Amino acid sequence: MILIDTHTHIYDHQFSLDRNETVQRALEAGVKMMLLPNVDASTIAPMLELHEKFRDCTRVMMGLQPEEVKEDYKAVLSQMEKELGDVSPVSRVHYVGVGEVGLDFYWDSTFEKQQLDAFEIQLDWAKQLGLPLSIHCRNAFEKMVKIIEKKQDGGLRGVMHCFTGTEEEAKVYLSLGFHLGLGGVTTYKNCSVKDFLPMLPLDRIVLETDAPYLAPVPCRGKRNEPAFLVHTAQRIADILQIPVEELADATTKNVQLLFGL
Ligand SMILES: [Zn+2]
Repeated sequence: MILIDTHTHIYDHQFSLDRNETVQRALEAGVKMMLLPNVDASTIAPMLELHEKFRDCTRVMMGLQPEEVKEDYKAVLSQMEKELGDVSPVSRVHYVGVGEVGLDFYWDSTFEKQQLDAFEIQLDWAKQLGLPLSIHCRNAFEKMVKIIEKKQDGGLRGVMHCFTGTEEEAKVYLSLGFHLGLGGVTTYKNCSVKDFLPMLPLDRIVLETDAPYLAPVPCRGKRNEPAFLVHTAQRIADILQIPVEELADATTKNVQLLFGL
């Protein structure tokens, strides 16, 4: 069984004491590939360092996470754009996606205008470079859909990461050409996604941990890590009443097609 964790931050300082072991545990659990989305300017170096060390089982994305969009976002974005666009032969890094990007008005909307602008700019990068996106959306569904609808010309694709919305919201994202990223939250009792999971097309679902956050049951409350993806996969397979190997095959194929792996 081969699983791919499509969204994991194991370059985070929470793994500084056992990062190598974390990767080993993932590989032993069958999580053979880990996609690393960037967060802000400070995470680029540790992310690339990890990728350099584990080139066979990690891939990187570049983007500015919405909660990190501040007054200086334009300068940060221009640094990231340079990094992303460096396709010179000496560049050892090949970015497989733009992420994580998006909108988040959960804690506050102080930088709403800046978030909207940063998101649009990064959607344009994805279109220009033909790369898929990893999109973060919290308390921003209407605005998110409005922007994607405006920008979608057939060239936008990617994952709505950590999808926890309603069936109607799922349908909107699917109709806009996006995949749904399901993570640990899907295993929580109060998550309603499992009620309509069997109605979702299996070829549009991918799996993720969002480590170190949102560990699945039975690890809920602990630091999350890619190896825990097997719990999420098993739970989703149980809901769909299919063997976990079948879910693993399907979701792995989806990721390979979407991210060109
Ligand atoms: Zn994330």
